Amino acid sequence: MTATITDTMTLRRLGWAGVEIRLGTARVLIDPLETVAPLAPVLGEPKRPLPPVELDENTHVLVTHLHPDHYDRALLTTLPGPRTLGCHTVVADEVRADGLDPISQNIGEVRQIGKLAVTPVVSLDWRGTDSDQVAWIIEGGGTRVIHCGDTMWHGNWWQIAREYGAVDIAFVPVNGVIAKFEGYEADVPVTLTPEQAVEAAAVLGASAVCAIHYELFNNPPLYTQQDNIAARVTAAARAKGITPILVGDGESVPTPPRRPA
Ligand SMILES: [Zn+2]
Repeated sequence: MTATITDTMTLRRLGWAGVEIRLGTARVLIDPLETVAPLAPVLGEPKRPLPPVELDENTHVLVTHLHPDHYDRALLTTLPGPRTLGCHTVVADEVRADGLDPISQNIGEVRQIGKLAVTPVVSLDWRGTDSDQVAWIIEGGGTRVIHCGDTMWHGNWWQIAREYGAVDIAFVPVNGVIAKFEGYEADVPVTLTPEQAVEAAAVLGASAVCAIHYELFNNPPLYTQQDNIAARVTAAARAKGITPILVGDGESVPTPPRRPA
């Protein structure tokens, strides 16, 4: 494949939580997902096939955490060297045990991938520290975005905003799922609801909020998503003066002009 070279950051949604970020010759994928068979017992079958994920010689991958809808081990074993797989230091041994060779980073530690600076920041998985999770801040070409994995609401948004400054786009999970399996059961949404996702984006100073991690899987009573997600994201974002971005699998994500400071 011929390398695509871009002067400004270009963004594309992949399936589920996956996002593609390009700048210069660098291509970074966060949480790319292609292998859905391991998800079926809990998340059920996807409503539509996921788009194939292409891993070329310019592709680097970052994962937010090791749940199989974010960490597609089968896909990552095909990542051609010497391209990199990035993860939080805390989960690196587990990734190595899977036969992969990750580059690990601590919270706040910056790594440069071509013209893209990638930094893990605090996030919160619904299984707490039983399942370590980070968000990734990606910056380059005058644009800063954050990918929030499938976090639930937490108290570090303000600190992230203070330390890194306003983001142009916040990629946030919006399915507000009620999960009941493997003994982790409560009637509390374990990923951000549409309204919480927009509130998080607002605290992060986002100009736009791009919805990820919704509608593809819904499998009550084990994995039950919120109702009317797209309409609720749109309404909540408009009420906050933030541009809502709801694009399908594989579609490009427009980069909005940065909000005045
Ligand atoms: Zn997830």
